[in-house]
This record gives sequence, structure tokens and C-alpha cells, in this order.
Amino acid sequence: MDSGPIVGVLALQGDVREHLYALAEADALARPIRRPEELVDVDALVIPGGESTTISKLAIEFGLLGPIRALIAGGLPTYGSCAGMIMLADEVLDGRPDQQSFGGIDMTVRRNAFGRQVDSFEASVTLDGVGGDAFHAVFIRAPWVERTGPDVEVLGRVTDGPAAGRIVAVRHANLLATAFHPELTGDLRVHRFFVDMVRGAHARAKG
Ligand code: GLN
Repeated sequence: MDSGPIVGVLALQGDVREHLYALAEADALARPIRRPEELVDVDALVIPGGESTTISKLAIEFGLLGPIRALIAGGLPTYGSCAGMIMLADEVLDGRPDQQSFGGIDMTVRRNAFGRQVDSFEASVTLDGVGGDAFHAVFIRAPWVERTGPDVEVLGRVTDGPAAGRIVAVRHANLLATAFHPELTGDLRVHRFFVDMVRGAHARAKG
């Protein structure tokens, strides 16, 4: 993997371009994924922010729900931001009844958890394993995590304001999720952290 891992970005809806750009800056070979065939040689996947109900609907229509579920269950390193976090949750509260997730992370998330009147806001988040200053995190109709299973590592919580203490970044084995959007702020630390995770998973798989 000398030339960098191939990271697919699910390109059905949401801020796809921003993730492609951030991944390329973090030394990955990033490419958009719209069809099941395009999943064949990816080393990892990113599920962007957007609208989880729409991503769910389009994933079903494009025949991607089953294949992506299977790849994630089989250990494919995957990172989801915001709607992508919802798509990686085993359980979703305040979802639409017909909304499906890929699952994989043993957690319960609540959609639009910070309140409907709070469309977007910014807050500081300290991230374990990601060095440097607190992260300046942008939240847009974001979920938060209400329950984590025993194997889920809490990486980040909101540090101040009315939502202080809420879990907004987690890792479960090869899966990473943030309720905020690092792809929008030009701070590459989360994408670099994920690309390192992908390299680590690849090295372990090769033994
Ligand atoms: N509220 C959106 C959802 O339920 C997530 C918003 C986002 O990704 N910025 O999917």
C-alpha cells in the first residue's frame, strides 16, 4: 500500500467532494462510489454527512445496502460523519420508520439530537488518539450517541455549552464515526487518523 490506501466515498448524497478532497490531502487514493461493482477493490469506505433517510433510500435503490453491510460486517474500515455516523449505528432513535442503516457500531444514536431549533452550531471537542488542540467541530442537525456497547471506544465528547458531555466521536474496531463534519473545516486530523487506521488494518490482515 505504498501509494496510499484506496478509500471509496459513498457518493449518493451529501458532502462527497469535501471528503474526497480531505482524503486526498491525507494521502489516500479517494474515489466516489455509486455502484456495487465499484466497491470491489477499495481498502476502506467513507459515508459522508447529508441526510441519512435519503442515503438509506438511495442505497437500497442502487443495490448498495446489502453489499456495504456485508463488507462492514467483514471488517472493512469505514468512517462516517454525521449522517454517516447514523448509517453506521446498530440502533437509530428518531429515525423514519423505513430508514435502514448499514450498522456495525454497537451503539444507539439519536437523529437531530441537539434540538430542531439548533440547526447548526460549533463547539470544542477533545479527541482521544488525535493529538493537538481541541477540535473545532461543526455540527449540522447532528446526532449524538446515547448508548455504547462494551467494545465501543468513546473518542470525543462536547466540552462546553448546553450539550457538554455528549458523546460525538466513537471507534469500534475498524469503524470510526463523528457527529460533526471535519471535512468542512480544513482540519485534516480526523481523516489522517482514519487513513492510519486503514493502514493498520491492512498491515494486520497481511500478518
Ligand atoms: N440530520 C441528518 C440525518 O438525519 C444528518 C445531518 C448531517 O449529516 N449534517 O441524516
